[in-house]
Amino acid sequence: MLFYLCGAIEYSPDHGKAWREEVTRFLHALGHQVYDPALDEKKNLTDEEVAHFRSWKATDLPRFQQTVRKIIQYDLDWVEHRCDAVIALWDEYAPRGAGTQGELTVAHRRGIPVYLVTALPTETLSGWILGCASRVFTGFEELRACLESQAASRVEEQKQPAAVRPRSMSWSVGMNITKGSIGWIEVVCGPMFSGKSEELIRRLRRAEIARQRVQIFKPAIDQRYADDHIVSHSDLKIQGECVKDWQELERKLDLRTEVVGIDEAQFLGDGLVGLVVRLADMGKRVIVAGLDTDYLGRPFHPMPELLAVADEIVKMLAICMQCGNPAKHTQRLVQSDDLVVVGGGGTYEARCRRCFEPNPSNMEKRKAATTAAMGLSAEKRNP
Ligand SMILES: [Zn+2]
Repeated sequence: MLFYLCGAIEYSPDHGKAWREEVTRFLHALGHQVYDPALDEKKNLTDEEVAHFRSWKATDLPRFQQTVRKIIQYDLDWVEHRCDAVIALWDEYAPRGAGTQGELTVAHRRGIPVYLVTALPTETLSGWILGCASRVFTGFEELRACLESQAASRVEEQKQPAAVRPRSMSWSVGMNITKGSIGWIEVVCGPMFSGKSEELIRRLRRAEIARQRVQIFKPAIDQRYADDHIVSHSDLKIQGECVKDWQELERKLDLRTEVVGIDEAQFLGDGLVGLVVRLADMGKRVIVAGLDTDYLGRPFHPMPELLAVADEIVKMLAICMQCGNPAKHTQRLVQSDDLVVVGGGGTYEARCRRCFEPNPSNMEKRKAATTAAMGLSAEKRNP
C-alpha cells in the first residue's frame, strides 16, 4: 500500500519532518510505500518558485497564490489518485494551517481510509476532522500495531485456496485495451461474502484514477452500511447513489457519464437488462455486481440475463463457513419464505454445494430418515 503522510508543515517547528521520518521507517519495514509531502519540497515547482515563493506572500501576492495552487493540485492528486490510505498527525500546529483539513476531507469523500493519530483529548478535536477519520489512534505505537495485524491477516488471505481469489485480473487487463469509447458490460457475480462489492469498488476506483466520469448506484433496499456509499464487507467504500429501481437509475444518469457502476443488481428489476444494453450501445462501460442465485439456489433474476448480455463475466467464490471449501451458495440462517430478507452475517453465510441446505427443516428430516434406515439394516443383519 501507498500511504500519504498528512499534517502540519507550514506552522510546525520542524516542518513536520521528525514524525514523518519515524512513520516512514516502520511503514517501509512492513513493505509499504510512502509519499512524504514535507520531504518533497520541489513537487511540480520551478527552482525559482521553490527558492522565493514564501517571500512573495508579502511582496507579490498573485504570484504567491499561483505557486500555492500548484502545490494544492500536486498534493491533492497524490491523495485522490495515487495513495491507498492517509496517515494524519493532528497536533496543535495542524489547525493553524488548512492543508491537513482539506486533504482529510478529500480522502474521506473519495472513500480513502484515513488513520488519524492525535494525542489531544477527543473532546477538544474538531468534529469535522473526527468525521473524516476512519480510525483514531492516540499514538504511533497504536497505529503501528494495527498496521502490523493488517499485514498478518493479508498473509493469511494469501494462504486461501487459489479458486477463492478473484481470477479476473489478467482478463480485465487485456480487455481494457479498446479503441475509442466502445461500450462494454462487465458482470461480477457470486454468493454473499465473496468480495463482489470489493471487486466492483476496485474497478470503479481505477476508472476514477484514469479521470473518467463515474456514476455509481445501489438499490435503496440495501442500507446495511452507509446511506450514500457502497461498502464492502471489508470496509472498502465508494460514494454512490441510492435508487429504488432501474427506472430511477435511468432518471439519475448523467449523459456525460463514461463508467456506470451498479451494486446488488438483483434488486433493481428485469428492466435493468435493457437499460444496461442501451448504455453499452451508447459507448459506456457498465460494471454490474450482484447475487447470481437466491436463498434456494435458484438463478436470481435479472442476473442470468445480465450474464448473457455481458462482455466479461467474473464469478467470485466465498469460503464455506461449514467446511472451508470454495462456496458458491448463500445459505439463509433464518426461517422465511420471502425472496428478499436483508441482512449480513448472522442472517446469511456462504456454503459450498455439499453443505448448502435450502430448506433447513428438510435437512433435519433427511438426517432422521438416514438414521432410521441405518438402524433398520443393522437389525436385519443381526436379528
Ligand atoms: Zn462446505
